Amino acid sequence: MSHADVVVVGSGVMGAATAYWLTRLQPGLRVTMVESDTRYEKASSSLSASSIRQQFTCPVNIRLSQYGIAFLRKAEQHLGLPDHPVALSLQEPGYLYLAQPEQAVALRTAHQIQKQAGADVALLEPEALRQRFPWLNVEDVALGSLGLSSEGWFDGPALHQAFLKKAMAQGVQRLHDRVVGMDYSDTQVSAVQLASGGSLPCGQVVNAAGPWARGVAAMAGVQLPIEAARRSVFVLSCPEPLAHCPLLIDPTGWWLRPEGRFLITGAEPLHTEPDLPLEPDWSEWNDEQWASLAHRIPALAALRVERAWAGYYEMNTFDHNAVIGPHPELGNLYFINGFSGHGMQHAAGAGLALAEWMLQGQSRTIAVEELGFERLLQNRPLRELAVIG
Ligand SMILES: Cc1cc2nc3c(=O)[nH]c(=O)nc-3n(C[C@H](O)[C@H](O)[C@H](O)COP(=O)(O)OP(=O)(O)OC[C@H]3O[C@@H](n4cnc5c(N)ncnc54)[C@H](O)[C@@H]3O)c2cc1C
Repeated sequence: MSHADVVVVGSGVMGAATAYWLTRLQPGLRVTMVESDTRYEKASSSLSASSIRQQFTCPVNIRLSQYGIAFLRKAEQHLGLPDHPVALSLQEPGYLYLAQPEQAVALRTAHQIQKQAGADVALLEPEALRQRFPWLNVEDVALGSLGLSSEGWFDGPALHQAFLKKAMAQGVQRLHDRVVGMDYSDTQVSAVQLASGGSLPCGQVVNAAGPWARGVAAMAGVQLPIEAARRSVFVLSCPEPLAHCPLLIDPTGWWLRPEGRFLITGAEPLHTEPDLPLEPDWSEWNDEQWASLAHRIPALAALRVERAWAGYYEMNTFDHNAVIGPHPELGNLYFINGFSGHGMQHAAGAGLALAEWMLQGQSRTIAVEELGFERLLQNRPLRELAVIG
């Protein structure tokens, strides 16, 4: 089999974005994405809630989101093709984090971090919340944090497809196969082995295997603390429209946002073992959850559950943050993994940062070095506190 300059293992949104940027920055680079599921039926990128926020507690995540929203607004210019216009249906009604009295200090601390990083966020007292969102019950709320711009949601699978199509138009190959092993020495990977037989020699390898990244890292003898963490999403219909409804994060941990004429919602899972079957956990949809939704939004007392789906977060159990960059010893093995439920919005920036790192020795446009692999080896967690569900 012919040699590839770069093999990307997995072509969800991370693999596709990396391949796009590699061939955008260096036309003619021979990049092969190896993908075992070209229908992307189980890929996180197909099952995402595809929302974007600036309200993180790690500045590097805010930087990635700032890049992400700018990219989404100009997606057609970046990714459009004559026969494939890019329509992402981007909407920016904001995220609204609600805090009960004991959570208000943490919300104020997060606010300081976000303002310093240039995020357009505001703290709102209960009366201001009541005026802005008359359908919201704030009787037990001490404070809210609202994104005034640059937060909302979009069509994530359409973004994924646009990255794929543009990358392939730039010459990237997609091989329908499964990577089952790697040939490696103490310092580098020389080839990936394929389920169909044979191996694919390569100059660099990218682990973009999403929730399955741990297994791919293990093929090169590398431990990566990433689990496939199932999350269920429930689709609701609400009898009354909720004017200007943002993506709402309740103090009890559930989230909710509009999706067309429906609402979608999810909560912290009741079952947390890794690799649970990809079917929604209906035990999460219980009386307590229903009551909590109806408490916060009284109109939801008359809601109807239309359907549900489940997807995997690629959960980094070490610190809930992405791992981007090379392995410190196997210098040509790169990671773009562990986004822990916030990867869709970061794919454009993370792919660019990784491509720059691979081609130019460092990420230049967005500083992401603190997300590098070294922190895992040195036991220096970079904890993201604003992880949803
Ligand atoms: C329910 C849910 C809600 C979410 N909500 C949001 C949100 O609101 N905002 C946000 O930004 N993010 C959100 N996310 C997270 C986001 O969707 C993910 O971070 C992102 O899609 C990860 O992309 P990926 O390419 O790393 O993984 P994936 O899309 O899973 O792609 C990995 C690919 O690798 C392939 N693969 C794996 N192993 C191999 C192998 N050995 N050989 C060949 N191919 C292989 C798989 O088949 C798969 O196609 C959500 C995720 C879920 C599940």
